Amino acid sequence: MSKLAQLAEEALRPYDGRLTGSDMDLVWHGVMGMIERFYDRDAGALDLLGVEHEYRYVDSAGVEQKGFIDLHGETDSKSPEGRAWFIADWKSSDAQWVGQKRDRQQQSKQPWDYAQALVYLGLIPRDFGTIQMQYRCWSWQTGTATVIPVAIRAEGLAAHEEEAARWSRVREGLVEEFSMYAWPKNDGGCRKFGPRYPCRRESVCWAVGPAGTNKPPLPQEALDRAARWPLSYSSRETLKRCPELYRAEQVEKALGQRVDDEDRASLMGSSWHEALAAVWNTLKE
Ligand code: SF4
Repeated sequence: MSKLAQLAEEALRPYDGRLTGSDMDLVWHGVMGMIERFYDRDAGALDLLGVEHEYRYVDSAGVEQKGFIDLHGETDSKSPEGRAWFIADWKSSDAQWVGQKRDRQQQSKQPWDYAQALVYLGLIPRDFGTIQMQYRCWSWQTGTATVIPVAIRAEGLAAHEEEAARWSRVREGLVEEFSMYAWPKNDGGCRKFGPRYPCRRESVCWAVGPAGTNKPPLPQEALDRAARWPLSYSSRETLKRCPELYRAEQVEKALGQRVDDEDRASLMGSSWHEALAAVWNTLKE
């Protein structure tokens, strides 16, 4: 067994027993598929600067932002594209990466968050030119990898920054106006991802009475979490989707009520992610 395969196997070991044998096999093949498709290319053309890079910084609105970048680096002079910044993000799904799913990914603001973070952390210059971003997507259904490329141009960063800061201010306003009682609900967010993926709070959400009528005040730590917890790309997207969903999630986390979904899809995704990080860390070293 190759060294990379061994590394992947070790990284997957903690998931033994949490995933079925056949799902472990699927994940294993998913990791090996990605190694086959991308590892040599990265080893030959990329100066890898970060793997699973966790970042935190305070943005221009004074709000702490946080997140993880799966891979980032520079393409070196051996690359046909010439020297440029590069970011990759791993995604896995049961579905195929085509049609609306592909379009949605391409329109996501997530790469802009990464670019903003790298600039704030001083890892790339503000006038970085263009960052080549790749979503490297795996389909469990077909066992194939798809690349969804996105180009991030420095000219667009200021607008993204302003938009992110605007949502930080929206959150501040909501905390002031509604405290921790129910925040405004956006029924357009309930089925945002289609009827197959309803908001998980649908069954309780619409049964709750008007703000403040049927709930005792919440502990201070819950208020603190919703008001000041660093915003990540996904928590900001939740806030945009529906303020009440954001508030409810933060309260659940503050009160320790939310165990991150241990469902099959998220376990497969996280195990695959961890194994890829273990493998690509060898490249960085
Ligand atoms: S929390 Fe928001 S998105 Fe979720 S069910 Fe309620 S209104 Fe809909």
